[in-house]
Amino acid sequence: MTSQRTIVVGGGLAGLSAANTLLERGKFVLLLDKKPSLGGNSVKASSGINGAETEAQRELKIDDTYISSSYADTFASAGPDLARPALITALTSNSAAAIAWLTDSFGVDLSVVSRLGGHTIPRTHRDKSGAPGWAITSALMKKLMALADAAAAETAGESPRVEIIKSARVVRLLEEGGAVVGVEYELSGGVGDIVSARGNVILATGGYAADSSPAGLLAQHRPELLALSTTNGDHATGDGLRLATAVSAGTCDLDQVQVHPTGFVDPTNPDAKTKFLAAEALRGAGGLLLDAHGKRFVREVERRDVVTAAMQKAEGPVRLVLGAKAAAEVKKHCDFYVSKGLMKQYADAAAFAEDVGIPVETILDTFAGYGAVGDPFASSGSGNDTIAPAPYTSTGSLHVAIITPVVHYTMGGLTVDASARVLSSNPNQLPIPGLYAAGEVIGGVHGRNRLAGSSLLEAVVFGRIAGGEV
Ligand SMILES: Cc1cc2nc3c(=O)[nH]c(=O)nc-3n(C[C@H](O)[C@H](O)[C@H](O)COP(=O)(O)OP(=O)(O)OC[C@H]3O[C@@H](n4cnc5c(N)ncnc54)[C@H](O)[C@@H]3O)c2cc1C
Repeated sequence: MTSQRTIVVGGGLAGLSAANTLLERGKFVLLLDKKPSLGGNSVKASSGINGAETEAQRELKIDDTYISSSYADTFASAGPDLARPALITALTSNSAAAIAWLTDSFGVDLSVVSRLGGHTIPRTHRDKSGAPGWAITSALMKKLMALADAAAAETAGESPRVEIIKSARVVRLLEEGGAVVGVEYELSGGVGDIVSARGNVILATGGYAADSSPAGLLAQHRPELLALSTTNGDHATGDGLRLATAVSAGTCDLDQVQVHPTGFVDPTNPDAKTKFLAAEALRGAGGLLLDAHGKRFVREVERRDVVTAAMQKAEGPVRLVLGAKAAAEVKKHCDFYVSKGLMKQYADAAAFAEDVGIPVETILDTFAGYGAVGDPFASSGSGNDTIAPAPYTSTGSLHVAIITPVVHYTMGGLTVDASARVLSSNPNQLPIPGLYAAGEVIGGVHGRNRLAGSSLLEAVVFGRIAGGEV
């Protein structure tokens, strides 16, 4: 039985989506993860997952289309030179089905829909808890673990239908006659115990935004970013890329690394190399970005690359400021950040101004200009494209945090086709038999810039495609 198993490497959202899909098809699964617990970066996601033409959008009367709108926004964000139509079509055309799968098969609440940077329409779905990555990933994890426990109890002595092995780092792909036929993995943090397993392989090892070692992928492709902190867990070291390139897989766009504009600066540890992310949902709710003089300098719901570039020119410290209405919309997020000491709450503009040493008149001028006639940051120039209406007054309470750009996501990765097959680095780019990939380890889906909410979507869509193909 063991030879029929599909080996899923990585237990984040992409690996869990692939594994659950394989089980739905009656297949056998071995899931390996190098960490003692599953979840990867997926459990940290804080803004949500994109979907076009979803049930939640219909209920909220949001008129979206995947082809003219979701596809177009993703294509524009990727940039004409790096946009790959087949991958963008796979991502966007499968988005409604991905959301329906999460809600219907796993009972995940995705009823809150907001409009985030670079989207022309509200399409980023989240639950009411403010921790959508956890809500989604833990639901898939729970189902898989329950099936693994039941399988272990039923099949003592035989290979269970699904087996999960944690603290199992895959160190090599096994190759025979040009096909991938299995893996070798090392148990418990590398004490020398190497085990091999045979089967088709789905790589779902995540990206390389935490690969800041001197010979690492960031050092090779974007050395100037080594100075920045990261939002990623320490597992995100590009293992899948090394494993697959060792069997001739191709890569693309490795220099395309997303710097997210809003990592929290923790006042008690401002130089920490790993930083909490200030979710994009905060700007989506109407949060403002103010420079050291209390002035706005960018349209807050611009794309991440645009906001980051503007922040790098602005005089810092840059502060993210949420008025009472915006903070109420993302209350769970704000409560959490305040509890962590990353965000401060002020009774009103005067208290904030005094604490940070900016004249209150300047702050009130900035507030009065927000969304008013002549606001230079109200629109991206596409007509009805206005900012979220979140009034700022002299009396309302404010939530404020100092923020800084952080390495967040790696757009580059393994070259794959729209069927999640890993392509060889040879000029003919043929699929490598037996090798599939999904999630952040794959490259090319987002081109130059990933839109908020499109990575969880990529994990679910390509995880389901890979799980459906093997
Ligand atoms: C703070 C934060 C907030 C985010 N918010 C959002 C959001 O709101 N919306 C959105 O769309 N995206 C968001 N993202 C991005 C998104 O969470 C990730 O890109 C996505 O979850 C990646 O999923 P994945 O399954 O590919 O990888 P991961 O979830 O990172 O999982 C990879 C897994 O592979 C395992 N692994 C790695 N190497 C090996 C090996 N050699 N052997 C065995 N196992 C291995 C790891 O231990 C890990 O468990 C956010 C990211 C961060 C860090």
